[in-house]
Amino acid sequence: MVTKTVDLRSDTVTKPTEAMRAAMADAEVDDDVLCCDPTAQRLETEVAKITGKEAGLFVPSGTMGNLISVLVHCEVRGSEVILGDNCHIHIYENGGISTIGGVHPRTVKNNEDGTMDIDLIEAAIRDPKGALVYPTTRLICLENSHANTGGKCLSVEYTDKVGELAKKHGLKLHIDGARIFNAAVALGVPVDRLVQAADSVSVCISKGLGAPVGSVIVGSESFITKARRLRKTLGGGMRQVGILCAAALVALRENVGKLESDHKKAKILAGTKQD
Ligand SMILES: *Cc1c(COP(=O)(O)O)cnc(C)c1O
Repeated sequence: MVTKTVDLRSDTVTKPTEAMRAAMADAEVDDDVLCCDPTAQRLETEVAKITGKEAGLFVPSGTMGNLISVLVHCEVRGSEVILGDNCHIHIYENGGISTIGGVHPRTVKNNEDGTMDIDLIEAAIRDPKGALVYPTTRLICLENSHANTGGKCLSVEYTDKVGELAKKHGLKLHIDGARIFNAAVALGVPVDRLVQAADSVSVCISKGLGAPVGSVIVGSESFITKARRLRKTLGGGMRQVGILCAAALVALRENVGKLESDHKKAKILAGTKQD
């Protein structure tokens, strides 16, 4: 009997497809630190378009994508970020926003559905009148889908409400969208609409989309200019990076359409009712 092992440790445990390996072998490349690798540019433009943002930047990992994004929004020392107590940035990223960025985390309780109560977020925003003693709130972070609550998806309505709150208080909104494509497919909402309220989004191509390496962060042109410089500072500037971006482009083209079936299979495995 032939047994086949399906490795379900994580959606990161993937192998590049033949099409990805072929695209990597054929990738048009240049030195992306000196200037611009054409394949990296193509990927960055594509993800910016899908997410409805001005520009994108390829980064080696989602962790670096989140770190860069938080640091760009909180470039002034003494900044504080409001984020969920059960979110990836707070739990699984070595506290990099503090240890490397000097950014102070203000956690708000994550509910079972991955949200934070809007009134609790608002209550956590520091009163500028207390500036002598308080850190300055500059950023709110959401995570969609929310990994530690089992992949719960934040709705457009909720995301928009948090965006309105951020605007009202002059804050930025970052979405850790490691699995934003999964959320968009599960909710039946286009990615650009789902992240419309966000100033920046970090998107993993190396999770359920199956590319071997990398994430893309997106935002305004000026956000990406600062992000590019910070990426270099952190050692994330890479030379002929088009080799990696070529596989990511194949992942976007061929694997987004498979997520719906992934979700169905995951539900069957979880033994829950399919709807
Ligand atoms: C995986 C993940 C990240 C970080 O991505 P890496 O590429 O593993 O650094 C960030 N946020 C969430 C929600 C993730 O699932």
